[in-house]
Amino acid sequence: MINLDAYPSRSDPSRAKCYLIGSMQTTIVFVNYSQNIYSHSILKRTSLNSNHIFLDSKFWFNVGLKQLEKIVNVAKNNDDNSYKKKAKNIIIFVGDGMGVTTITAGRIYKGQYLKHGPGEEERLSFDEFPYTALVKTYNVDKQVPDSAGTATAMFCGSKAHYGAIGMDSTRSPNNSTQGRLTSIMDWAQKENKRTGIVTTTRITHATPAATYARIYHRDWECDSKVPEQSKDHYIDIARQLVETSPGNKFNVVLGGGLQPLGATNPRETRTTLWEGGTEKVCSRNDSLNLPEMWLKMGKEINDERAFVSTQKELKQLDLKKINSLMGLFRNNHMTYAIAKEEGEPSLKEMTEAAIDVLERGNKSKGYVLLVEGGRIDQGHHQNYARAALHEVYEFDMAIQAALERTNKNETLILVTADHSHAVTLNGYPARGNDILGFANKPGQDPIYETLTYANGPGFKDHLNLNATTENIWITNFTDKQRQSSTYRHLATLPLPDETHGGEDVALFAHGPGSSLVRGVFEQNYIAFVMSYAGCMGPAKDFDNSCQHRSSAESLSMSLLLFAAISFVPYIHIFDN
Ligand SMILES: [Zn+2]
Repeated sequence: MINLDAYPSRSDPSRAKCYLIGSMQTTIVFVNYSQNIYSHSILKRTSLNSNHIFLDSKFWFNVGLKQLEKIVNVAKNNDDNSYKKKAKNIIIFVGDGMGVTTITAGRIYKGQYLKHGPGEEERLSFDEFPYTALVKTYNVDKQVPDSAGTATAMFCGSKAHYGAIGMDSTRSPNNSTQGRLTSIMDWAQKENKRTGIVTTTRITHATPAATYARIYHRDWECDSKVPEQSKDHYIDIARQLVETSPGNKFNVVLGGGLQPLGATNPRETRTTLWEGGTEKVCSRNDSLNLPEMWLKMGKEINDERAFVSTQKELKQLDLKKINSLMGLFRNNHMTYAIAKEEGEPSLKEMTEAAIDVLERGNKSKGYVLLVEGGRIDQGHHQNYARAALHEVYEFDMAIQAALERTNKNETLILVTADHSHAVTLNGYPARGNDILGFANKPGQDPIYETLTYANGPGFKDHLNLNATTENIWITNFTDKQRQSSTYRHLATLPLPDETHGGEDVALFAHGPGSSLVRGVFEQNYIAFVMSYAGCMGPAKDFDNSCQHRSSAESLSMSLLLFAAISFVPYIHIFDN
């Protein structure tokens, strides 16, 4: 999800004009190109289209709190007190682009890949979670969203514009304070919780960036990408990670992205050619080496820090002794798991390392961790169905590892997607048919695959350039070609980059606070679930449930103290 050039630019004057007209509540004349009957229709602009610029964080915070109120009231009416349960730790897993079709296909893929059986009956780790809901993903200005606006909704509690990171719809390219939001990581740090992010993309990519950066546009990952007019107002995403709060206080930063941080590995190997806009990565003009700076800053404040760039280095660390860990394993994104390059840890290994660094037992106030399976999305964008489904499998293993490594009574685990994709699961393959195979029988015409895309580069790969009217599509790919990780499934419209899908995505929840996840809601409510369950941020004082928890905690502390004091005389006797 990087090819923003294909879309109308946010700085496009025609768009600005549209906002202006909308904000003045004027009428607009739609002129039809064919000058037909509709050419003089005059429509009064009263819809959200004209007003969406006013849907700022205040509006969305109200939406989030109202949703919380609704769910709490339903629980109260049912004498269900589970909503009050508080989470010491929160892990939010985001499968980027993991729509419901991808979940179903990924589940079948898992069963077939592991040779468990036909596949359809397989269970993903989060299929077992007790609570689920549907999430509305649209951006303030887009029916079908991008990862920046959706991540801002999930982590900062306010829906935002397409392309915006950590800023609400009042953002400005010339003013970095206007529309600035705080994230779950700020909220957690304020409560002395530990914090971390793990991703398979560059650490500066949209989804992880929305946890720590406030920037007008997601593409401003390096200083070289910040436009001249905004340079006095914004520092790039990579520098924000290392220099400003909350990024500079993260205890865990694991993923790809050496290059935007100015630490490019010139000897990096690349044995599989992956294509598409996501394979491009920016470089720094200011020659800063941000991981080096991060280590130096650690020394100045006596923080026990470690930086690693290989799987081996990661394995050699004594994670329980490290306070802050940064691991960047590729110049760009991590490699797709299906063709992983040597020396890269898996998402599961990174997740386990993150939990080991964040867990500090009873002495700690807990932690908040984001784990992103970021390349499900990018596989789909290139119609690499096999690569995308294998990413789901890897993502599932990371979630399983988190379930095994954490205490279910104190850890809220959320699994969701930021948006869906234009991928379909076609009828009617037989039960147990290869999910990456054909939906109908060979010899039937036209032959088609179970997984096809509505659009994307797969169109051209399958188009028979010598076509007569009968053979438009190439049907004679060999099995070997079709099993390649860079084989593209068919797309029915030619686009260089397959699009996201706009339908609702699922949210799965496990652990304390999970019962707040039910029904259908706006995506920004997810931040309010974490806020309320984690006793941090804007919903901390929604009711007195957090105070009750604190008083319960202090009561148990006093009891412990009382017990300890009561034992003192006896200890003395034994001493004698
Ligand atoms: Zn995308």
